[in-house]
Amino acid sequence: TVPTAPLRARAEIDLAALRANVHALRARARGAALMAVVKSDAYGHGAVPCARAARAAGATWLGTATPEEALALRAAGLPGRLLCWLWVPGGPWRQAIEADIDVSLSGVWALREAVGAARAAGRTARVHLKADTGLGRNGCQPADWPELVAESLRAQAEGLVRITGLWSHFACADEPGHPSIAAQLDLFRDLVAYAEERGVRPEVRHIANSPATLTLPETHFDLVRTGIAMYGISPSPELGTPADFGLRPVMTLSASLAQVKQVPGGHGVSYGHHYVTPGETTLGLVPVGYADGIPRHASGTGPVLIGGKWRTVAGRVAMDQFVVDLGGDELPVGTEAVLFGPGDRGEPTAEDWAGACGTIAYEIVTRIGTRVPRVHV
Ligand code: PLP
Repeated sequence: TVPTAPLRARAEIDLAALRANVHALRARARGAALMAVVKSDAYGHGAVPCARAARAAGATWLGTATPEEALALRAAGLPGRLLCWLWVPGGPWRQAIEADIDVSLSGVWALREAVGAARAAGRTARVHLKADTGLGRNGCQPADWPELVAESLRAQAEGLVRITGLWSHFACADEPGHPSIAAQLDLFRDLVAYAEERGVRPEVRHIANSPATLTLPETHFDLVRTGIAMYGISPSPELGTPADFGLRPVMTLSASLAQVKQVPGGHGVSYGHHYVTPGETTLGLVPVGYADGIPRHASGTGPVLIGGKWRTVAGRVAMDQFVVDLGGDELPVGTEAVLFGPGDRGEPTAEDWAGACGTIAYEIVTRIGTRVPRVHV
């Protein structure tokens, strides 16, 4: 439970915005179903409430990376279709199959694990065969696809698996016109055709992530898997702003100033004294640090809205706190500092933080630590 007294810091999660984003994405996906990707605690937004909200808005699938994340959703009472894809040998295959979770197979070794677990459980495992069409990450190499398809069909004939999905993942869908997009799509079509010619009848063929869902309708197939866009963040500034796609950022991260004090010019600030006050000024202490997921790379660059103005992280971000130069403004202790949010109150966005830290907005929201309470509204 979250205390109701003023909080050191809070990440407010606007579930109405998340639901509206799911509606906007479903409209873009037209006939295709939508999978709400809620891995990594829903990119830091809280997996269970976000999964519930996405379902309420019409997401028919949930997706996680690890089986543990999928099992946690089941334990929290989330029914319906649920896929997880990041497996290792000896993983909780049997628990996943018994919990009616669809499992992804990136190779014959994974099929063997699923078959063994299905046999032990006396159940049929629902499996999605994953092809590496060019990402170079997990997924079956095209050369090994015939063997994976043949062995999966054999296991299906024995009632041990049912091939419910054929799928892949893009490398560069957020870079318009990148030649790998067309190459991956062509190869995916070929691999799907190969499997279907041999009798595979998948319920869903899927390759589209958020950027593909937003900008590449020819990639939608039967199902789109959206993560970042559902949280109201554009997959990349080059593609456009969230508003360009009718999306609204879901997370607002704020903190209460823990100290405001006057200091003379020439005063070193935070470890290493990388900021020295240029003249007499006021310093404000923002009580969140890298333990809360504030990137240390934001030292000297991260923007914060305090007292109606953008301020900048002065000196190094420490584990639990950082300092801003308030430029002589005498603000009361407890004044709200908004690190990022939708931007319509003048606050920075997660994209602004990403730009300030040389990273992507995915990382900014996902790394916000467990010490920051999520307040779902
Ligand atoms: N599908 C897979 C396999 C993923 O790993 C991810 C996340 O990286 C997604 C879909 C969702 O991607 P995005 O957040 O860009 O929508």
